[in-house]
Amino acid sequence: MNKHIIVQKYGGSSVANIDRIKTVAKRILSSKKKNNGIVVIVSALGDTTDELEDLAFSITKNPPEREMDMLMSTGEQISCALLAMAIKAQGHDAISFTGTQVGIRTDKSHTKARIESISARRIRKALSENKIVIVAGFQGINKDDDITTLGRGGSDLSAVALAQTLKAKVCEIYTNVNGIYTTDPRIVKQAQKIKTITFDEMLEMASLGAQVMQVRSIEVAKRFNIPIHVRSSFSKEEGTMIVKKTSKLEEIVVQGVTSSKSEAKITICAVPDQPGIAAKIFTEISKTGANVDIIVQNVSHTRHTDISFTVPKKGLSKAFAAAKKIAKKIKAGEVHQDKNIARISIIGSGMRSHHGIAAKMFQTLAKNKINIEMIATSEISISCIINSVQAIKAVKALHKAFQLEKRK
Ligand code: ADP
Ligand code: ASP
Ligand code: MG
Repeated sequence: MNKHIIVQKYGGSSVANIDRIKTVAKRILSSKKKNNGIVVIVSALGDTTDELEDLAFSITKNPPEREMDMLMSTGEQISCALLAMAIKAQGHDAISFTGTQVGIRTDKSHTKARIESISARRIRKALSENKIVIVAGFQGINKDDDITTLGRGGSDLSAVALAQTLKAKVCEIYTNVNGIYTTDPRIVKQAQKIKTITFDEMLEMASLGAQVMQVRSIEVAKRFNIPIHVRSSFSKEEGTMIVKKTSKLEEIVVQGVTSSKSEAKITICAVPDQPGIAAKIFTEISKTGANVDIIVQNVSHTRHTDISFTVPKKGLSKAFAAAKKIAKKIKAGEVHQDKNIARISIIGSGMRSHHGIAAKMFQTLAKNKINIEMIATSEISISCIINSVQAIKAVKALHKAFQLEKRK
């Protein structure tokens, strides 16, 4: 009988080659000695998913999404089989499963499917036979029995969803850094590991550009209150706990800084300043499926105003075409697009009860001669859109200004 179940997820860099797979197998075996049931979710080897995507785009600009899922899901099928073999070779029984085999049922939205239910029948049976279970991350199956994938980084979601289904004691996310840092440690050497972070802060950090955890996986962890331990598969060091509430007496004002280059800006000039115009513009844009985020409308002195907004770069060409069409219809002026923007954000729960944080952010950018093009705030974050060339400089300056390199 398995008393405790531990869910572990190993990301692509953790299983990038055969040596790494053998090392991970060894680590899983040592966890097995301490715990009772081990369920491992694995990503595709190294950059396999990117390579598969490139293959598809070398055939057509618009690969059919169903076929994309057939293709992209193969990466994880390779890694889960190899990992099961490596564990068996080291002397413990193991079995690999695809998403379909463990009953991960999703809706029909190919390439970004949502999990509807998980049966996990075969996982439970294998655990009762004392096998180590390896599940291919990132994939499921829909009502038509077609393979689906859960969006990029989706193995994190597979892990959290399985941890919930199996009532696991903890969900461990193994990656190539020692945890969640105050900013991307690849950009800022002085970045510090955060010991504990709340679901809300992690959600905000992930959606504002910290790619280390998939946003949707944190949403699920928050909903079901599943503690996550993000740590490195390359060291034994304790990582970061993502939890509902931290035990700190006072909330931290600024936990981290992020940057993201995933958006572009569209500006419609000389828009007639009349009721109903914004509604017309954004109805047209929304028809393209683009998720408009920051919107800035200048104050009008001339009964004409410029409206700027951001959209994900992926949907830019459609949104730009729609913007040009509607501009003509409402007799507005020129329409411009700018791909060279970056969103720089600071995140922290303590912002709710502290003032002067935005001012400090703007002063820091000003001191560094970084022009702010747009501003957006939430309860626990402030974002500025700036020129992408200055992104790294901005992140470094903010990290220093908020003394994050001194974080204990
Ligand atoms: P995996 O292959 O394990 O899923 P990812 O590449 O998805 O790994 O995520 C890990 C990477 O996320 C790290 O190498 C790091 O450079 C990057 N990253 C960005 N922001 C942060 C942050 N605030 N803390 C830790 N890592 C971050
Ligand atoms: N292999 C998939 C990706 O690269 C899923 C994952 O790694 O989480 O997006
Ligand atoms: Mg990842």
